[in-house]
Amino acid sequence: MRKNITVRQLPNFINGKYVETSETFDVLYPVTGEVTAKAHKAGQAEVDAAVAAARAALHGPWGKLTQQDRAKMVRAIAEGVQKRFDDFLEAEVLDTGKPYSVASHVDIPRGASNFAAFADVLRENPTETFMLDTPDGSGALNYGVRRPRGVIGIISPWNLPLLLMTFKAGPALACGNTVVVKPSEVTPSTATLMGEVMNEVGVPEGVYNVVHGFGDTGQLLTSHPDIDGITFTGETLTGSIILKAIAPTLKGASMEMGGKNPGIVFEDADLDLTIKELGRSCFLNTGQVCLGTERVYVHESIFDQVRDRLKDYAENQLHYGYPDEDTTNFGPVVSDEHREKVLSYYKLAEEEGATVVTGGGAPAFEDERDGGSWVEPTIWTGLTHDSRVATEEIFGPCTALIPFTDEDEVIKLANDTNYGLAATFFTTNASRVHRVAPQLEAGIVWVNSWFLRDLRTAFGGMKHSGIGREGGVHGLDFYTELSNVCVKY
Ligand code: NDP
Repeated sequence: MRKNITVRQLPNFINGKYVETSETFDVLYPVTGEVTAKAHKAGQAEVDAAVAAARAALHGPWGKLTQQDRAKMVRAIAEGVQKRFDDFLEAEVLDTGKPYSVASHVDIPRGASNFAAFADVLRENPTETFMLDTPDGSGALNYGVRRPRGVIGIISPWNLPLLLMTFKAGPALACGNTVVVKPSEVTPSTATLMGEVMNEVGVPEGVYNVVHGFGDTGQLLTSHPDIDGITFTGETLTGSIILKAIAPTLKGASMEMGGKNPGIVFEDADLDLTIKELGRSCFLNTGQVCLGTERVYVHESIFDQVRDRLKDYAENQLHYGYPDEDTTNFGPVVSDEHREKVLSYYKLAEEEGATVVTGGGAPAFEDERDGGSWVEPTIWTGLTHDSRVATEEIFGPCTALIPFTDEDEVIKLANDTNYGLAATFFTTNASRVHRVAPQLEAGIVWVNSWFLRDLRTAFGGMKHSGIGREGGVHGLDFYTELSNVCVKY
């Protein structure tokens, strides 16, 4: 139902305290377009203060914690998020408009488990050792020592705000770093609320800081001489700008960027399972998942069947509504600006000769939701593999179905992109699973499933989708510095 909104203040969080500034910007509720909060924009002074606090905290009580005590504290943060579950849920829904059914199953639980899962990552992963023969016969021992990288700048996007920010803050803190977070300007609430949790569980001041603003605030972080590493999730173009900005100060970087992920449905796929998973991969979170499937290659022998069944899924399994309604599983996109982008691709698809199987526009509610950022779930056929709609990342609830005839052809089509984040394929042939999976140029390949995440596994993209891997032990390469110690006997 319609929310009674009281406009909240979202100050920066610096050195354990909330810090207001004179310049604020509006945060809107995408369901109706109403203002829900005023975020306080950080300038140079606030960014400098946040970075200085983070630097000082490295040498304060935080830096002196044993690994075990630090892990305990990181687990306490996870519990702290769980205790405030309803507050996080409400904040995330107000910023994104996403249904409670999605945020309560995906965003908030994962936001908590990102701390729990990485709490012990450093303790549980030994470093390498090598015995070395020396010419004098005495020998030497080499062993690795990991230490925190230092102050980490986290720049995060709006599609899964808490989940993606904590996927970085969790391992960063577990490894003993301190962080300055710049959340997306359209979804600043949960990162702000996290400051309260940090204070509630006794995380020392300066360990976790949040600065609000647009790309210019992000730039103050990327160019800051006293930040040791930037971990970024967002668009590929932004990533490239950030890489240029960090070059003069020679920071480390971990980059998770855009995708145009292929789905493949082979002729031997289990279609009940395929439609269920494909439906999620095209439409979950209103298509605003970096791992989503905006182009699906379907074997020509089952093309019509898949088209009809996916159409039925979009029309009968997805339910628009207010976020708190039990039946709602499809929300608005995050902002009017993004809605305009998605709708421009809906128009372009028709110009490029698409047949609209379903959707193609925006719904009308005849109530206050018409002020919100809604678009219809959309499926196209008739687009060529090299059309702009089938090659550019739209980040909306839409997909192009394209027929193929054989396995070698479809592998080429799937790989014919600058992106390389995820790929998903459906088959019941075990040999095909192992033949095709390693040929797909993607950091993550799902077979007969989608978005089935194990936090111990590597996460990241190849080509223009990313640089480096996070997740499990893989994040250690970014979140720690590894020194080799060579001891001669
Ligand atoms: P953007 O790249 O627009 O923004 C990401 C963050 O970067 C925001 O906080 C943004 O601030 C900030 N930013 C923008 N410009 C600069 C700059 N010059 N210097 C420093 N920071 C800057 O991404 P979106 O928020 O639009 O997110 C959607 C994108 O994220 C999609 O491309 C999607 O594929 C990708 N993504 C990738 C994932 C992955 O794991 N590979 C996961 C999820 C999303 P602000 O917007 O407030 O100005």
